[in-house]
Amino acid sequence: MNVPLLDLNAQNFPLEAELTAAFTRVLHSGIFIMGPEVTALENEIAAMVGVPHAIGVSSGTDALLLALMALGIGPGDEVLVPTFTFFATAGCVSRTGATPVFVDACPVCFNIDTTDAARKVTARTRAIVPVHLFGQSADMDAVMALAAAHGLRVVEDAAQSIGARYKDRASGTIGDFGSYSFFPSKNLGGFGDGGLLVTRDDALADRARLLRTHGSRPKYFHSLIGGNFRLDPLQAALLRVKLPHYATYTRARQANAAAYTAALSALPGVVAADPAHCKCLAAHDRATAGASMILPVAYPHNEHIWNQYTVRLPRPGARDALQAHLKKEGIGCEIYYPRTMDRQVCFADTPESSRRGCEVAHRLAEESLSLPIYPELPAAHRDRVVEAIASFAF
Ligand SMILES: *Cc1c(COP(=O)(O)O)cnc(C)c1O
Repeated sequence: MNVPLLDLNAQNFPLEAELTAAFTRVLHSGIFIMGPEVTALENEIAAMVGVPHAIGVSSGTDALLLALMALGIGPGDEVLVPTFTFFATAGCVSRTGATPVFVDACPVCFNIDTTDAARKVTARTRAIVPVHLFGQSADMDAVMALAAAHGLRVVEDAAQSIGARYKDRASGTIGDFGSYSFFPSKNLGGFGDGGLLVTRDDALADRARLLRTHGSRPKYFHSLIGGNFRLDPLQAALLRVKLPHYATYTRARQANAAAYTAALSALPGVVAADPAHCKCLAAHDRATAGASMILPVAYPHNEHIWNQYTVRLPRPGARDALQAHLKKEGIGCEIYYPRTMDRQVCFADTPESSRRGCEVAHRLAEESLSLPIYPELPAAHRDRVVEAIASFAF
């Protein structure tokens, strides 16, 4: 029995009739740039996450870039980013001309270590970009406190966490901006590239909307240098078919995570991370000493939406061995992420001071492995994954 990491068809095919109808609606409308489908998706997501402004854009990457541009981040500025993340978080900072400053990770939730972030603030620091990795919010109280203390702007990279909650607030709605991605493997997966930017601030929303279309208002009169960051109405129409099902998808991911945790924690040498050890490497290491596998955990104050179920194998070489074992067994799995940003070739010329002290993140890059968790994952496939892990000689 082969178990793929992801099966998009299992989610899309049951919606085929509705998706086809949405396509036909757009075809017949003759409107292929912006228009009512984009506005409707923006309004529906704004209502879902509880913000006044949602701005549909061309990708999650462009959402981040647009947010940084709207905040006026540029050359001479430093921006704090987690080093354990997808490239776009840091890449967008560099594309504005600013310098990304790489921050270590929390060993429990993999998110930005705000204690390390505080150590890396300088007179040039202008913003911080927390990422809510794998579907769980970063410590936003600590992020907002740090931002308030140093006058920093906050852009939440919520590409993996649309619909997640932090202390009853939607992920992406706490900072100045929040960015979402509709990349097909994200929790609200589209049919190509797409993204969305949200904010509570009227002036920032206006600026982002202006920059989304070449900074022009009216057409051909440019007050700012923007770009083409628009979301296609076809993409919006198709996403609107999925949106009413989104809560169901999330519950299925949560059920899969709970089932994995119950089954895997019964195996010898497997322990779950302890939320009490957030950002405390020494306590985390003491509690997991000798463990062969560490399971992911949701903080009680978070609603985790499980974009990934990511286990850690702390023994040297064990992660790569398990990956090879699962591949041999026909089970899809993936390393998110094998190389931290501070060690990427493209960032080699950022100052050494922006790359120091990322010890936890370096370990995560060596030890992490993500298992199949998509909503439609059949229970028999999930059991097969557990069985294959049980048969692995740690
Ligand atoms: C996917 C992702 C992005 C980029 O989104 P795209 O829609 O692929 O451009 C940015 N940040 C994180 C953390 C992501 O996972």
